[in-house]
Amino acid sequence: MEPRTSWSKAAIAWSWRLLLAAALALSAATPPAAAQPAASLDPAHPQLVLAPHTRYLHDPDGSMPPEQAWREVAAGRFQALPGTGAAFGFQHGAYWFHVRLENRDPTQPHWLLVQDYALSDRLDLYLRRADGRTTHQAGGDHLPFAARSVRYRHPNFMLDLPSGAPVDLLLRVESQSSMQVPLTLYTPAAFIELSRDAQLGIGLYYGILLALFIYNLVLWLTLRDASYFWYLFHLSAFGLVLLTLNGLGFEYLWPRSPWLADLSVPLSICLAQIGMQQFARAFLRLRRIWPAGDWISLAGMGFFVALGVASFWLPYRIATPLASASVFLSIGWIVVVALVAVRRGDALARLFLLAWSMFLLGTGMFTALAFGLLPKSFITEYGVQIGSALEMLLLSVALSYRYAALRNENERIVRRAKLQLESQVLERTGELRMALAQLESVHARLSEASRRDPLTGVHNRGWFRERFESLLEETRAQGRSLSLLMIDLDHFKAINDRHGHLVGDDCLRRCARVIDGSLHGYGALVARYGGEEFIAAVPGVDMLHARELGEEICARLRAEPCRTRGPLVPVTASIGVHVLDADADGQAADVALQVVDAALYAAKSRGRNRVEAAQG
Ligand code: GH3
Ligand code: MG
Ligand code: MG
Repeated sequence: MEPRTSWSKAAIAWSWRLLLAAALALSAATPPAAAQPAASLDPAHPQLVLAPHTRYLHDPDGSMPPEQAWREVAAGRFQALPGTGAAFGFQHGAYWFHVRLENRDPTQPHWLLVQDYALSDRLDLYLRRADGRTTHQAGGDHLPFAARSVRYRHPNFMLDLPSGAPVDLLLRVESQSSMQVPLTLYTPAAFIELSRDAQLGIGLYYGILLALFIYNLVLWLTLRDASYFWYLFHLSAFGLVLLTLNGLGFEYLWPRSPWLADLSVPLSICLAQIGMQQFARAFLRLRRIWPAGDWISLAGMGFFVALGVASFWLPYRIATPLASASVFLSIGWIVVVALVAVRRGDALARLFLLAWSMFLLGTGMFTALAFGLLPKSFITEYGVQIGSALEMLLLSVALSYRYAALRNENERIVRRAKLQLESQVLERTGELRMALAQLESVHARLSEASRRDPLTGVHNRGWFRERFESLLEETRAQGRSLSLLMIDLDHFKAINDRHGHLVGDDCLRRCARVIDGSLHGYGALVARYGGEEFIAAVPGVDMLHARELGEEICARLRAEPCRTRGPLVPVTASIGVHVLDADADGQAADVALQVVDAALYAAKSRGRNRVEAAQG
């Protein structure tokens, strides 16, 4: 593994190279090193990985001319590739690669050399044939895309390799990107097959990303949940990172702009990190569960915003390694945040963590490859694609779960509020019903009181007039008779005068009780009609019976003097009686009252303390 170059190491390498140049000048006559065995191209191998046959030389300041590089090859100063293959990490200067090829297949004079890495800036390919003739081709993303032999996302060169004679291939690579130069030779047919398979894989990957994008876009438009937006942002920015890394960005998006081809790498990495951190903040509700962690996430995002803006001016060799290295910290932080959320009991954070660990594994391997820490293989090369597709898929699932959880919680809140409301309504209705009942009873008591005579407790004249008319109609309809008794206490003024009004009141109360008690059980209407005057309407009673009732009242009053607060006061009454027969012509209530009044008058005039019936 080649150590990363620092300025001091560059200086050492430079001095070492000067010494080497001096030694070379002194030993111009030194015979060339033993010829390197040629890699043989034959019909059995339509595709040949060149790494085992490749030797390389690092030119730390990138100033070595090709003639000297040829001399270095001849001097055997090129060395075999390290265990990681042709992956050296971010390096200064240029790398030279040498392979000797011998085509043993006369039917196949054309071979395509492909560098399976998209980001190298400058490639210079020198082919030296057996007769010493040398040709030169240039490539890399500092040239427009159209300069390539074949329109393909990785740099490539069509080689003319006549059979039978060895050809020396010398490739100079200079790049501010990671130095990765995996070289493969293909017959045109083998290349077509390979690129078909690769395009299918890439198509599948972007198909998954696109489907997830559209699915979550629709969800975001419907639900307007910020998590969905940041997921979309992360997904798009990450898709862009891969487009730049696998060369498709240069092929399809900015084929004429080597400037954008360079800038897009650090810029898309920064955008993807911003999207990733912001998505984690929104999804895990970081501000709520861990405010301090939230501030750290914000600071991280601030760093990527600043680096993204700065990458417009910063040299690519500084911006890209800085952005790539920060990815380690950034995704490490995501893991910390997710673990904290898991510990705080967020069930979905587990799914989140699983999703990111897929991604971390893939990205970790890819970044390790970029820094030359791991050898190139299918898993390290496509780890990012596989890991990120799984990650995006799991995150999409997690988002759906999150949405379902939020919806359940909302429904629970609504249900609880409804129950609360219902019980409150019930409570209020009960209270209202009780108040209404109280009001009704007060009303009933009031209206009853308005119909009673406050002194004696029997009904008053108004009530009697109301009820008397309806009772009259009722008894007529039933064909029954109705008797009227008008009772007036005798010489009551004299009682008042002699004993005072309070004693008079006591007498009135007692007389009312006697009259009411005497008619109890007859369904009679009994009322105080005036000052010391009472009236009774007794249904279903004929004249004879009515007179008897009148006599009984007279007798009971007479029998016992009134017990008052003062002395015992004897009281008598005069009573007029009138009977309304069912078969008689309907007599109006007023007339009937006048008639009974006349009967009372007769009782008074005939000596009082007696009962008189109405005449005719
Ligand atoms: P008569 O036998 O002709 O009926 O004589 P009288 O004194 O009973 O009749 P009069 O109509 O001349 O007087 C009625 C008296 O009844 C006058 C009044 O002082 C008395 N009186 C009326 N209402 C009340 C009352 O509420 N309380 C008392 N203590 N006395 C009342
Ligand atoms: Mg009287
Ligand atoms: Mg009177």
